[in-house]
Amino acid sequence: MRRVSGPTDRVIVVGAGLGGLACALHLAGAGRQVTVLEREPVPGGRAGRLAVGGYEFDTGPTVLTMPDLLEEALGAVGERLSDWLRLTPLDPAYRAHYPDGSTLDVITDTARMAAEIGRVCGPREADGYLRFVDFARQLWRLERADFIERNFDSPRDLVTLNLLKLLWMGGFRRLQSKIDQFFADPRTRRIFSFQAMYAGLSPHDALAIYAVIAYLDSVAGVYFPEGGIHAVPRAMAGAAEKHGVTIRYGTTVTGVETAGGRAVGVRTADGERIPADVVVLNPDLPVAWALSGARPRPLRYSPSCVVLHVGSTQEYSRIAHHNLHFGRAWRGTFDEVIRRGELMSDPSLLVTRPPAGAPGGRHAYYVLAPVPHLAHRQPLDWEGGLRQRYADELVDVLEARGYRGFRDGIEVAQLVTPTDWATSGLAAGTPFGAAHTFRQTGPFRPGNLHPTVDNVVFVGSGTQPGVGVPMVLISGKLAAHRVTGGAR
Ligand SMILES: Cc1cc2nc3c(=O)[nH]c(=O)nc-3n(C[C@H](O)[C@H](O)[C@H](O)COP(=O)(O)OP(=O)(O)OC[C@H]3O[C@@H](n4cnc5c(N)ncnc54)[C@H](O)[C@@H]3O)c2cc1C
Repeated sequence: MRRVSGPTDRVIVVGAGLGGLACALHLAGAGRQVTVLEREPVPGGRAGRLAVGGYEFDTGPTVLTMPDLLEEALGAVGERLSDWLRLTPLDPAYRAHYPDGSTLDVITDTARMAAEIGRVCGPREADGYLRFVDFARQLWRLERADFIERNFDSPRDLVTLNLLKLLWMGGFRRLQSKIDQFFADPRTRRIFSFQAMYAGLSPHDALAIYAVIAYLDSVAGVYFPEGGIHAVPRAMAGAAEKHGVTIRYGTTVTGVETAGGRAVGVRTADGERIPADVVVLNPDLPVAWALSGARPRPLRYSPSCVVLHVGSTQEYSRIAHHNLHFGRAWRGTFDEVIRRGELMSDPSLLVTRPPAGAPGGRHAYYVLAPVPHLAHRQPLDWEGGLRQRYADELVDVLEARGYRGFRDGIEVAQLVTPTDWATSGLAAGTPFGAAHTFRQTGPFRPGNLHPTVDNVVFVGSGTQPGVGVPMVLISGKLAAHRVTGGAR
């Protein structure tokens, strides 16, 4: 494995997102002197916190999977996850609501889930589910060490026995057609393939290897930390500081300083120059490239999303923590958002109702709707009245899908749009970065080593292995290994 050359004692990590924090923990655990420079007053980046009118909302991720990766990051400095975060497994992980009025709970326990599928869709479908679990579990075992949790130096590194096994299992077919081999009911077909959207693709275009995302949330389990997801970066930052990492908030980095082809430190917006032996960059990759003078590579972006945060007096007994409300349309919805750059005409939505974040007797709702990114030829103009119109439309859709009186219950409401994501420095106005197309996956995804400056490393969702909390935590470990030469 290639690693940075020269001394690596003093490392600056720019950005206290989950990727930057994971990297800082792994570096501190390996004895490096680490300083994290974060422009915001709090850690977490996309896993932030919004406080409005007495309510508190998680701004980004709500579906937390693979807590063992958090355990590993904290373990790098000798800390135990249970001393920092109280995690509760969600049961059900999701509740799916279908247009015919039926619901299906996604339960992590395989036997109970088979019974739930049997009850809703019949015994043959339950058998298909058991076969799917075997398939997805094996997929995860084959992919994890060889293709996800490893630094690639060349596409040749892909060629392993496990690659052949993945080919043989049909991992390089399209996800939807693979899922359709296990399931016949449109409801199960959707609940085990919609996760392709997390990778920025339609299940009709994504490779079947992405069934591992469905495996991670539907089979391995979804967790909720006491205090909300923002408690995760707070815990990581706290543990890092306890073990000697300096975190400077309110510090915006404006460029990487180089001399003789090496980074020698960074410049801040206040004109300060901070020296370093190695610089790790956690901002969205196109921004990180600009900060470090790397030639940008054209990227195909994932669709974006809007999030409607609502503080409400209304409570709904039929919903779970995470609720997927599917529209009637399926393939057409992906075409609208991903190919044509249009809003969904028959929306599918994720509604999250966490147990905290609201004043007594009130409730916080987080409504996420996929929308096109801003790199389409004719991007949507969110500021020209669309912001309010779409917020109203989402409320209408929710009312029509069983959230009676939703509008009347609203005490506070805030819609976050692609324009807001762009303003916060996320390329193409999407918080989901480069899509996981074949050419942007594994060793073909932009790498974590700077192409020309030997001691600059990238970390976060734009680089390898990819998007989402688990992948970004892994990227922190992989970036740290580029500095320390750590395990493969
Ligand atoms: C609405 C939404 C829903 C999501 N849902 C899920 C989900 O349910 N499950 C899941 O697993 N993932 C989800 N994700 C994705 C996940 O949140 C991200 O992949 C992950 O948090 C990205 O982490 P990161 O470290 O790459 O980047 P970031 O979190 O963006 O961190 C980058 C950090 O760098 C800082 N920074 C930027 N520029 C500078 C500068 N010049 N100087 C100093 N600091 C700077 C930023 O302030 C930020 O703190 C969601 C994301 C969003 C936004």
